[in-house]
Amino acid sequence: MIIILLGAPGAGKGTQARQIAETHNLVQLSTGDMLRAAVSAGTEIGKQAKDIMERGELVPDDVVVAIIADRIGQPDCANGAILDGFPRTVAQAEALDDMLESKGRKLDKVIEMAVDEAALIERISGRFTCAECGEGYHDKFKLPAKDGKCHCGATEFIRRPDDNEETVRSRLVAYRSQTEPLLPYYRRKGVLTTVDGMAEISQVSKQIADLLEAA
Ligand code: AMP
Repeated sequence: MIIILLGAPGAGKGTQARQIAETHNLVQLSTGDMLRAAVSAGTEIGKQAKDIMERGELVPDDVVVAIIADRIGQPDCANGAILDGFPRTVAQAEALDDMLESKGRKLDKVIEMAVDEAALIERISGRFTCAECGEGYHDKFKLPAKDGKCHCGATEFIRRPDDNEETVRSRLVAYRSQTEPLLPYYRRKGVLTTVDGMAEISQVSKQIADLLEAA
């Protein structure tokens, strides 16, 4: 099963992708996570991507397409993958179609997480993740359960450098101009469904799980 989660920055794609990957035995493929790992490791791709990411712009299509092409062909993706943050342009979507076709696979579902843009800045600027297990938290909506500790026991948390108001505004501009055209692209293919991304995290998970059961 190949699933894509689409939605503006802060829509909750990462949170949902993590959960679905676990409950449906899929591999989560997040180009954002992979690029952040490349930046931390100081690889060539990381060096190329760092400034672009800090400006809230999109990394060139050929870079992210190559990353996904390499990753999706690996044995652990045989059962399926949930793509979070890819594709982000029509050119990436077309490259993904070709990639899947050449491997005899198909795209099962594209799930749009619709959110109210006014809420996004608040959502994004308060978020942080566990440095150990990657669980997502928020200053206002979801603090670590006990004594500032993650459920995995870790006490160290990370905030993304691009989760600040100025960069978020640029990321929203990039989303509207370059990623939103994917909605009609996938609607025409008959694979797009929209869920209410403003609902409680557990409610959104339920909406997505129901869709996947029906698929
Ligand atoms: P994300 O974690 O998905 O919000 O991605 C963080 C940043 O990584 C984005 O603002 C882009 O600069 C870059 N990025 C992630 N995925 C892509 C993609 N599919 N195409 C281009 N840039 C991407």
